[in-house]
Amino acid sequence: MVMTCAASFCYNKSGQKQSKVSFFRFPKNVDECNQWASLIGRNDLVNCDVQFQRVCSEHFEATCFTSSSVGRQPSASYQWCYV
Ligand SMILES: [Zn+2]
Repeated sequence: MVMTCAASFCYNKSGQKQSKVSFFRFPKNVDECNQWASLIGRNDLVNCDVQFQRVCSEHFEATCFTSSSVGRQPSASYQWCYV
């Protein structure tokens, strides 16, 4: 299954050979989820209707990731590098 990034103006997709990006699910916490949605310019997602949405790793600082976290999901105290 090809995943695409939910962020506005980001066209990263999974399955591209040269692509090194990872994709992350939105947080389960509704407040955090809404924060992600507004940060990526997707205010249409603020009701947390994001079950199938993913955000790619380009929108995170490397320091967001903890080496122990499964699937390299950004930690709760993520920092955004969204441009
Ligand atoms: Zn992206």
